[in-house]
Amino acid sequence: MKKYALLPLFTIFLISCGQTQESKTEESMEKESEKEEVTQTEPTNPEETEFWEPARDIVNPTGQNGAPSDAIVLFDGTNTDEWIATEGGGPVQWVVNDDGSMTVKDKTGDIQTKRNFGSVQLHVEWRSNPDNTAENQARSNSGVFLQGLYEVQVLDNNDNPTYINGQAASIYKQSPPLVQALVPTGEWNTYDIIFHAPEFDAEGNKTKSGTITVLHNGVLVQDHFEIQGTTEYIGWPKNDPHGKGPIKLQDHKDMSGVSYRNIWVRELD
Ligand code: MG
Repeated sequence: MKKYALLPLFTIFLISCGQTQESKTEESMEKESEKEEVTQTEPTNPEETEFWEPARDIVNPTGQNGAPSDAIVLFDGTNTDEWIATEGGGPVQWVVNDDGSMTVKDKTGDIQTKRNFGSVQLHVEWRSNPDNTAENQARSNSGVFLQGLYEVQVLDNNDNPTYINGQAASIYKQSPPLVQALVPTGEWNTYDIIFHAPEFDAEGNKTKSGTITVLHNGVLVQDHFEIQGTTEYIGWPKNDPHGKGPIKLQDHKDMSGVSYRNIWVRELD
C-alpha cells in the first residue's frame, strides 16, 4: 500500500523538476538574447569604443643615430661585426668607407648577417656606382635577400632598360615594382621593407606564403606581394621548408661597385 501511495508524490516531483529545468533554460536564453542586444546596440558614448590597455611600448624613431630605439642596427658605418661571408662564414671582405658606407668588393662573395630572422621590418640604403656604365643586369647589380632566399633587386635602371621583373625594387623574377622610383645614379636610395616569413607544417608543406611590402625612397613599389617561393635566376620558385634565416647582400661578381649604409631591422615575431 505504502508503495502505491508514494507514486503520485514522485510523479509530481518529476514534473516539478522538468518545469524548473525548462524555466531555467528559457531564462538563460532570455539572458543570452539580452546580451546579444547589448552587443548589437549602437554605442551612445565615445568611451564605449575606446581601449586604454595594454599601453603601447614607447619607441624613439631616431634613437640610435637615425634608427628606431628598438631596432637591431646591422650596419652603422663603423664596422661589419654583424656580418660574415656567406661562403665559408669567414670575415667580410667588403670595404668599409670613411663616409659610413660599405662597398661590395668584387668577387669576394655575398655577405649575410650572423643573426637569423623571421618576419621583419628592414631599412637599407644603397647607392649605385656612377662609374658603372654597363648595360642591362650588369649595371650596379646587387640585392637584398630576406631569409637568404627572397631577393629585392638592387640595380641601376636609370636609362638602362631590363626585364621588368628584374629591375630595381622587383621581387626578382616574380614581381616588377609598381613604379620605378630611383634617385639619380650615384645618389642614395632607401628601401623600407616589411616581410612576413612563409610558414610550413611538420611535413614540410607550405601552409602560408610569405609576403613583402617595399617602399622605395618612400614610394610604394611592392604592396603586400605574396611571395611564390625562392627567387631563382634560372627556373621556377622553390618552396623547401625552412626556419629563420639571415639577411643577405649580393656580390653580383661583375664590378658592380654598389654601396650600402644605415642598415637596421625590427623583428616582427
Ligand atoms: Mg641582384
